[in-house]
Amino acid sequence: MLQIDNLTKYYGDYQALKGIDLTVDQGEVFCLLGQNGAGKSTTINLALGFLSPSSGRVLVNGVEVKPGDDRTRRMMAYIPEVVMLYGKLTAIENLDYFSRLAGFRYGRKELEALLLEADLQEGAFDRYVGSFSKGMRQKVGIAIAVGKNAGVLLMDEPTSGLDPRATEEFSLLVRQLSQRGRAILIATHDIFNAVSIGTRIGIMRSGELLHVQPASEVSAESLLKLYLETV
Ligand code: ATP
Repeated sequence: MLQIDNLTKYYGDYQALKGIDLTVDQGEVFCLLGQNGAGKSTTINLALGFLSPSSGRVLVNGVEVKPGDDRTRRMMAYIPEVVMLYGKLTAIENLDYFSRLAGFRYGRKELEALLLEADLQEGAFDRYVGSFSKGMRQKVGIAIAVGKNAGVLLMDEPTSGLDPRATEEFSLLVRQLSQRGRAILIATHDIFNAVSIGTRIGIMRSGELLHVQPASEVSAESLLKLYLETV
């Protein structure tokens, strides 16, 4: 579903990506680990079409991603570290607004079903999002992503700053989304979480992707050791 071919990115003279190859198939959760500045966010921003590559390409369902192209934008949803929502709108209103922007008009029952699926407590549906915790905002972000009906989900440090319970709830949602056939790419610093939700894990260092392996073949302890040896 998501295919990244020999992707490079220069910021001026600085080469942030040095030829990344990676695919994320339906039902996969690919976790990108790596130190600050390794190139994880650049990879995600290129995949989303927020940036143009210096060379190489990204394909979503076989269609090349180009900045501003609605075809590929519709096939993807993005969950950033902090989901940007309108604080003076309720959860339902935010979901309705962003769904309409993506071309979907849902009735109240459907909006509720999406929020329930994202595990938001019913009592929060009609509350202003300005009062929400980070974990609750992430859940609304997931509901928006599911409502968009996007097959590919890209997440940039989605559990950073979440407490252990919120992280666990978020991880459960990610697993459910992958089991329902989404292809998911996550940039994260959380090695334990990567082992728990990832199907494959890769470590980035200085713009290169190294040590891609199935998550089932590593323990958190061995991955931490490999990570420290790599970065
Ligand atoms: P972090 O974990 O801190 O988010 P990252 O792995 O996501 O790091 P990137 O944000 O992709 O790393 O950055 C990769 C490199 O590119 C870094 O050296 C960064 O300073 C540089 N970089 C990123 N964005 C720009 C930009 N707009 N202009 C110049 N350099 C940039």
